Amino acid sequence: MTTTRFAPSPTGYIHVGNLRTALMNYLIARKAGGTFILRIDDTDPERSKEEYVDAIKQDMEWLGLHWDRIERQSDRLDRYAEAADKLREMGRFYEAFETPTELDLKRKKQLNMGKPPVYDRAALNLSDAEKEALRAERGNGVWRFKLDHERIEWNDGILGDISIDAASVSDPVLIRGDGQVLYTIASVVDDTEMGVTDVVRGSDHVTNTATQIQIIEALGGTCPRFAHHSLLTGPQGEALSKRLGTLALRDLREQGVQPMALLSLMARLGSSDPVELRSDMAELIDGFDVNRFGAAPTKFDVQDLFPLTAKHLQSLPLADVADAVAEAGVPAELAAPFWAMARENITTLADLKGWWELCRDGAEPLIDDEDREFIAEAVALLPEGPFDSETWGIWTKAVKEATGRKGKGLFMPLRKALTGMERGPEMAALLPLLQVIRARG
Ligand code: GLU
Repeated sequence: MTTTRFAPSPTGYIHVGNLRTALMNYLIARKAGGTFILRIDDTDPERSKEEYVDAIKQDMEWLGLHWDRIERQSDRLDRYAEAADKLREMGRFYEAFETPTELDLKRKKQLNMGKPPVYDRAALNLSDAEKEALRAERGNGVWRFKLDHERIEWNDGILGDISIDAASVSDPVLIRGDGQVLYTIASVVDDTEMGVTDVVRGSDHVTNTATQIQIIEALGGTCPRFAHHSLLTGPQGEALSKRLGTLALRDLREQGVQPMALLSLMARLGSSDPVELRSDMAELIDGFDVNRFGAAPTKFDVQDLFPLTAKHLQSLPLADVADAVAEAGVPAELAAPFWAMARENITTLADLKGWWELCRDGAEPLIDDEDREFIAEAVALLPEGPFDSETWGIWTKAVKEATGRKGKGLFMPLRKALTGMERGPEMAALLPLLQVIRARG
């Protein structure tokens, strides 16, 4: 059965880049009728924070990306220790004692000599006595996985055929000197034991994948299908990594971005299919195919989320936004006509408040000198209340007959006088909602 996972480290809020990974894994699982696991990669006790675990769950729920299972790596440390023992027994695991400075020096030397900066495996030559002495002097060493020096190959769901020479990769450190298990092995153990069949993640993980394939094979597991999506850049192609902090999902939510707008963009951005606003999750699932994504960096412009949000809101019935309409201060009996008037004229729900204030308090009229007399005449012709959607038509017809004005010369001064603006909602829909006028009428 298809099983995927989204595996964030709870060391910060999740952002649009993480969302891409989460969504792709979610859609693959749902499309196949499989299982979607939320896995919290919290083996780093210093950087992992409970508040971020909660925030990740909230953000996922806000988006409607419901998980079937939640797992935490911190609950599974004994499983990782077992796997480490197995690798040790097989002779695929060795202790190394170089300090970061020593490693840095080695790398610089290699680069100076035009060689790739790959760990030279000096630790493999240490005798037991030498290791004992180093341990006494420096404490426990790190544990590295001994790669088989052959080509590591896989067919990537996005990148196509990949072939990496294991000799060009350093033997990965899987356990730190202080005993902390690192993601590279924890993830392999989890993916194998949880039956993960498909792993989609960012292309920054390609080298990890190569080493993880060998670790999975060493432990006797089955490799999942891998797909590595490109990384997001800013609208000009600039690296986004530094700005991702400002593109946290909760910030977008604060700015009024609607989940469906965000999901619709992310399910298509960087693929050969056009971005289309989808109305619900079922449509997103239906229209998704991970193989249609390209390897090139994907440009992301946060501004694209706002027209999609506006379009999504326009499609919603009052029932879906009733809370927001009430929060804007609109009395329940006016909610339906208010929403019908306002929904075409908002970008986010936050804009409702402004339209309601206009209805409730009126606007500072905008009247050009040459229109003063005309407006006075028009006001005198305002029909008796109560107003409805016909009133505007009846009134402007009467004003037209009395003044001889028509078209823009007729409508624009009235709009400006009533709303203080040159543009805005349909006047026929707005007029019955203008409370000042209602009171008069
Ligand atoms: N915790 C890892 C990360 O956030 C997970 C990578 C993976 O999907 O394997 O980068």
